[in-house]
Amino acid sequence: MKIYREALRVRTEREFDVIDVTGDVEKAVLNAEVEEGYALVYSRHTTFAVLLNEKESGLLVDADRILAQLVPRGNGYLHDDFDIRTENMHPDEPPNAHAHLSQILAGHTSEYVPIVEGSLMLGTWQRIMLIEFDRPRDREVLLQVCGIPRSRKGSIEAEPQSLEEVGVLPGQT
Ligand code: ZN
Repeated sequence: MKIYREALRVRTEREFDVIDVTGDVEKAVLNAEVEEGYALVYSRHTTFAVLLNEKESGLLVDADRILAQLVPRGNGYLHDDFDIRTENMHPDEPPNAHAHLSQILAGHTSEYVPIVEGSLMLGTWQRIMLIEFDRPRDREVLLQVCGIPRSRKGSIEAEPQSLEEVGVLPGQT
């Protein structure tokens, strides 16, 4: 078992900025030299999500519109009421309840993608994307690759599955 990790840092440019990181995750899998296992993409933020879906511009506009309808900005959220709110306040605190709620409703903090024969097992239309629900920010995502290393896989495959496969029948041992 091998565990490899790298940090991916990005700067988002606007609310609902979508960044395709499929190539970055593929590169991490190559760097990890893992043949069979899993790649984890993990956002360390509460208003910035990992999205595994089709990257089609119309669909992304649809998703943006649906979220704006479900959780419109400034809709009297308690998280944005700085007169009564006391928890987790800091000098740059923005009114961003709609961004947290978008992540709760539509985004995932992380996604796992299986690695088969050294490649991400993505479907034809699946892309790994990062999605910004808040204002432009510096963001960090953890890429962690776990599995059987390339060099060891051969020896594991060569191990006999059963005594019959190596010509040793029950009773002969
Ligand atoms: Zn907040």
